[in-house]
Amino acid sequence: AKQDGRNQHAFFTQEMQAQSARTLQLESALRNALSQGELEVYYQPQLSVDGQLVGAEALLRWKHPELGFISPAEFIPIAESSGQILRIGEWVLRTACAQMQRWLEAGYPAHTTMAVNLSMAQFRAQGLLKLIADVLQQSGLPAHCLELELTESVAMHKPASVVQMIRELRKLGVRLAIDDFGTGYSSLSYLKQLEVHKLKIDQSFVHDINRDGSDQRIVQAIIGMAHGLGMLTIAEGVETSEQLQQLTLMGCQEVQGYLFSRPLPAAEFDALVRGKGLL
Ligand code: C2E
Ligand code: CA
Ligand code: CA
Ligand code: CA
Repeated sequence: AKQDGRNQHAFFTQEMQAQSARTLQLESALRNALSQGELEVYYQPQLSVDGQLVGAEALLRWKHPELGFISPAEFIPIAESSGQILRIGEWVLRTACAQMQRWLEAGYPAHTTMAVNLSMAQFRAQGLLKLIADVLQQSGLPAHCLELELTESVAMHKPASVVQMIRELRKLGVRLAIDDFGTGYSSLSYLKQLEVHKLKIDQSFVHDINRDGSDQRIVQAIIGMAHGLGMLTIAEGVETSEQLQQLTLMGCQEVQGYLFSRPLPAAEFDALVRGKGLL
């Protein structure tokens, strides 16, 4: 058993070394990814439960010349820990806002929103307000068409400053959503202070919503709470028409997921939206 333990230890150590070698490799490759044109913003439609397009979520993709597509779940944390998320996140914001402005000019309804994910470091950076104002001005996108997604865990960190920053962002006219809602520990009284427009129900609760009674009750509670506070709800990770039906019954207003479309490059997104008559 002792021998086993040693072998296992050697195995884990090797595994950990391989892991950190890959992290270092990705961290350094990421430094050139933007200038090499390896990053692209994909868009996933957000629909009202009656099937109209209400917005798009911008989701970053990285295609490395040798390693192929690398998941954001892997490279976003690396971009965050190495400080690169500020530069990359700004590029995503500028790209996504310019794209939505072009779509508005091409006939998308005037209230269509572009949802952009903000990391903790971006949310806490000096100059976020100035950056958002500049992005809106440069792109021409009306402020109410930009929706910033903050995860519940970001919102839970240093609550007093989060409440203040959300107020300032609201003054600019942008919309705010709490992403991955239900996975953190926000209290009702805290949520009330947050003054966000939308709660995004985490996909982990949506997955088994037709089978798991406790997931159903959690989602029902989130929707009830949101509506009590005058917030909209959107469910992410909707993959089946049964899930859509259940969420609709429960009063959820908006949905996003593979049932409608995977995240797509801009041209394919536009073709899908027009092809399916979602406008
Ligand atoms: P997220 O913001 O929670 O995004 C939702 C994730 O679920 C996306 O994964 C999306 O492709 C995926 N998804 C959408 N519909 C379905 C579905 O029906 N079923 C399932 N199983 N998954 C679905 P993705 O694109 O791999 O992104 C992963 C995470 O990486 C995002 O989670 C977000 O936290 C982060 N991320 C992606 N792009 C950006 C970005 O530009 N900036 C920042 N800060 N984070 C980003
Ligand atoms: Ca998101
Ligand atoms: Ca999410
Ligand atoms: Ca997530």
